[in-house]
Amino acid sequence: GVPGIAGKVVVITGASSGLGEASARLLAAQGASVVLGARRSDRLDALAEALRADGADVEVLRTDVTVASEVAALVEHARARFGRVDVMVNNAGVMAIAPLRKAMVDDWNTMIDVNLRGVLHGIAAALPVFQAQGSGHFVNISSVAGLKVFGGGAVYSATKFAVRAVSEGLRQEVGESIRTTIVSPGAIATELPAGTRHPSSAKAIAELYEIAIGPDAIARAIAYAIGQPPEVDVNEIVLRPTAQS
Ligand code: NDP
Repeated sequence: GVPGIAGKVVVITGASSGLGEASARLLAAQGASVVLGARRSDRLDALAEALRADGADVEVLRTDVTVASEVAALVEHARARFGRVDVMVNNAGVMAIAPLRKAMVDDWNTMIDVNLRGVLHGIAAALPVFQAQGSGHFVNISSVAGLKVFGGGAVYSATKFAVRAVSEGLRQEVGESIRTTIVSPGAIATELPAGTRHPSSAKAIAELYEIAIGPDAIARAIAYAIGQPPEVDVNEIVLRPTAQS
């Protein structure tokens, strides 16, 4: 195992694809015990089987992050199985790009529910455990869209700006004993673009994602933050493809 990672108990939401899955694979390979949540439990089961075949400690639980009690159950599952929780990766997210004038209210609400409320539910679930332990680490996934608004991305950006605001507030409140890391990726090749239904926005996203890089880049960034010595709190990592403007 890798020092700073091996033996840690890491909970990851949205681990059924994309960045969450890539992070689960890398952290498990580096010796972490991983506890994986998402709605598609068939995908989680298949991932767990593959990781266990390589000798990893893996637990999965079907989790909808929009339901606070389900996120609490995921964290409690980790604590009950492994006796502690070292890292909570609030990764689950959806992206539905469209101009505001299209008033895609259902998509707005889904993004707020998953991307913002979901992260808050992760904090509500893990913070009491971290405080009881006297240590812990939140890794919250924002985006370059959490630093700048891109065309059609007002509401998606609003949720990702909010993730950065909540993470910074959390750091100010509990940062003496609990680490907080914001990871803000650019275009990464995952299933994320499938959430955009508005046709011309979907076309623009497809063009932007032509230069997307693989999700391992984000998994390595997360592993870097987790693997630092306890007195080092990596507050934010912004990472994009070299070819992205
Ligand atoms: P994917 O679509 O591949 O993965 C998203 C994950 O979120 C899936 O595992 C999905 O699982 C899960 N998810 C969605 N809704 C819920 C829900 N209600 N409850 C629990 N899990 C849910 O996309 P990415 O891997 O790219 O996305 C991961 C994060 O990275 C997101 O927060 C995204 O905004 C962020 N990001 C991605 C970028 C990119 O270019 N790909 C760039 C910047 C940020 P399931 O459907 O099984 O529930």
